[in-house]
Amino acid sequence: MTASRLVPGPVTVRVPAKVNLELLVGPLRDDGFHTLATVYQAVGLYDDVTVAAADTWGVSVSGALAAGVPTDADNLGLRAARLLADRYAGGPAHVGIRKGIPVAGGMAGGSADAAAALVGLDQLWDLGLDRDELEEVAAELGSDVPFLVSGGTAMGSGRGERLAPVLARGTYHWVFALAEGGLSTPEVYAECDRLRAGTVVPEPVATPALMAALRTGDPHELAPQLTNDLQPAAISLRPELGETLDAGMEYGALAGVVSGSGPTIAFLVENNEAGIDLAVALTASGVVRDVRRAAGPVHGAHVIHQRAD
Ligand code: ATP
Repeated sequence: MTASRLVPGPVTVRVPAKVNLELLVGPLRDDGFHTLATVYQAVGLYDDVTVAAADTWGVSVSGALAAGVPTDADNLGLRAARLLADRYAGGPAHVGIRKGIPVAGGMAGGSADAAAALVGLDQLWDLGLDRDELEEVAAELGSDVPFLVSGGTAMGSGRGERLAPVLARGTYHWVFALAEGGLSTPEVYAECDRLRAGTVVPEPVATPALMAALRTGDPHELAPQLTNDLQPAAISLRPELGETLDAGMEYGALAGVVSGSGPTIAFLVENNEAGIDLAVALTASGVVRDVRRAAGPVHGAHVIHQRAD
């Protein structure tokens, strides 16, 4: 008698990008990291990550934004898969990434792929991990990874990996101005330290006024609260980002802020129509490489398809 074994089919997970509504950077610690106080929002720019059982470990990357993403053991999606396998015994898998999140743009695209691989393999391997267990593995892969598992709007402390929920009403509309080339996150932090040398940097604490603004659901209330301590460093390394910020404000944004470590700039707009107008104006102005529109908050990494093989 031959026993037939059901091989679970590939699982596809959709995972969003993030924008930091507030990113406060504390002093440089002895371990080389900074303590952060940040408020993340997951926004509707997505990577789709498909995990499938395979004979050997592997990763592939596709889509218009695929350039610059490693297709070897450095890929964060593949690293996440192998870490989960080490922890919970899973066989080799192939990780297929379709990139819709700008690469090295301060929107945590690599972290998003790591989060998606964890969620997809949890399903493929039938591990039944709960949110806390997934976020614990996620934190080992990078500070932003736990947030991309959960999504929504959340406060991050420690290195950004310790999450607490934030009560946020409404939907916010964003226009993202993409820059030519990326910025290296470690270089931006180093520049931030250089610019702040000789000053006393306080321990960061999330601003109550931002929390209050998020409870109103009104983008006009949120706009003045957007802040990023890495912005001066990103502009110092890329002075043209200052021009992009000015252009966005001139064309009707309520506020603009460098996203994470940049160089993407996030513009908050009043509504969907204002977003279309701003995207058209920025594109026509020629100051940006490309624009994307998205709304937030959205859910974190979630399964959108599983094929039954
Ligand atoms: P951070 O999360 O540090 O803010 P970022 O959002 O600016 O990063 P990412 O898109 O995550 O930028 O890419 C940062 C670097 O990570 C890239 O230059 C790339 O070499 C590497 N990387 C590894 N895996 C991936 C991946 N799956 N997708 C994108 N980049 C990846």
